[in-house]
Amino acid sequence: MPVRLDRFAIDDGHHSPRLIPDEDASSAAGAARFRATCSCGRMPRHRPGSPEEALAAHRAHVDTRLGPSRGPVWLPLEARLVLLLVGCFALFASSLLGSTAVTRYLHATGAASLSIRASGVLVGFLAAASLMVAVRRYIAPTRS
Ligand SMILES: [Zn+2]
Repeated sequence: MPVRLDRFAIDDGHHSPRLIPDEDASSAAGAARFRATCSCGRMPRHRPGSPEEALAAHRAHVDTRLGPSRGPVWLPLEARLVLLLVGCFALFASSLLGSTAVTRYLHATGAASLSIRASGVLVGFLAAASLMVAVRRYIAPTRS
């Protein structure tokens, strides 16, 4: 039975399987045995088997690399970007409001007030940047 590789083509094109005959296992089993490798180069070694088994091992590898949360369709990309921007804005705004509240609470004026607000801006930027880093794989599929 011919093995149709295109059936296993994966969406981002970074995980295409390749079947490699395994000579040791083949001679031991008295039949052709194959191992699958992945074009991403990160597929763990698996037990050599029939082409179907090798491709099943490859698919298991792809499933671990492309979990459902990273799938392309849980929301349109635009909606994900908007959500991310809203999240960043919320973090930034709350840091800013927080620093303003701290300024008021401490009755800080002048340079003290300025530095509290400045650190509020800084914290806001850092929080927004961390959010982007934390969720980037949920926003766009990683290109690794
Ligand atoms: Zn792969």
